[in-house]
Amino acid sequence: MPIQDVDLIWRNGEMVPWASATTHVLTHAIHYGTSVFEGMRAYQTKHKGVCVFRNREHIERLFYSARVYRINLDYSVDEIMQACRDVVRENNLTSAYIRPVAFLGYGEMGPSSTAAKTDLAIAAFPWGAYLGEDGMKNGVDVAVSSWRRMAPGTVPAGVKAGGNYLSSRLVSMEAKDNGYAEGLGLSHDGTVSEGAGENLFVITKGRIVTPPAAASILNGITRDTVVRLANKLGFEVVEQNIPREALYAADEIFMTGTAAEVTPVRSVDKLTVNQPDFPITRQIQNAFFGLFSGETEDEWGWLDPIA
Ligand code: PMP
Repeated sequence: MPIQDVDLIWRNGEMVPWASATTHVLTHAIHYGTSVFEGMRAYQTKHKGVCVFRNREHIERLFYSARVYRINLDYSVDEIMQACRDVVRENNLTSAYIRPVAFLGYGEMGPSSTAAKTDLAIAAFPWGAYLGEDGMKNGVDVAVSSWRRMAPGTVPAGVKAGGNYLSSRLVSMEAKDNGYAEGLGLSHDGTVSEGAGENLFVITKGRIVTPPAAASILNGITRDTVVRLANKLGFEVVEQNIPREALYAADEIFMTGTAAEVTPVRSVDKLTVNQPDFPITRQIQNAFFGLFSGETEDEWGWLDPIA
């Protein structure tokens, strides 16, 4: 999806013009993948103005990712949360995708460098439905990838690091080359892991299951949102290993992510789900978007107004 540029980017404590937020070719992260980032959204809500959704949880995950790779962040969680609000407000955005990224910068080569300094930037720009408006309504067609997700004990799947997205790129490009909207990765043991940029939920006979943290998934914040909303609606959600063939018996499948929000899956490997009108997914999707229209009560304090 093309980037729609705006005026300003937050960079190491100040707002800089969009076009000048550049970096040196010997930046550590370009060579070794040493970046950690977040993908967040701000929504125009009916009742609380423009709000960053689950700002704190995203920035806490950024700190966790940075910790695993020993990337120092020179700011507090609260300071980065404030910068996220500021970058949306100062660009006059009413809804936005927000991309904080911390990366090891220019200074020293070698993967174990401790001298390369951390560069922290936060961009915000308009971004519609990641898997398309039609996909949001009618579901998307996905395929299981021939590429496996990284195995536990190799590269940590549970942190959001730039390098992890080499796996996502292979999974997603293969799917798109073959005419699908998105690809699903299996874990090292052949059970279902997640989409290239989305967590996965499978509904069979009213039972909602999603792969556990150990299935090489990113512990999605939308995944957590959906679990809580589903519980409020009276559905139990179980974390469980999912064999590939269970996808082909599913009544409904949906994917979640900050970019993908709550997107129904219409078919997997050309086999249509049993209930392509998505009765349960629809309830969950409505509850999710209801957070922004005010129809779903935000009892968790997930909406963080920018003003
Ligand atoms: N898995 C992967 C690989 C992702 O990139 C994302 C998007 N960040 C997700 C799952 C969903 O995570 P979240 O709901 O926190 O955006």
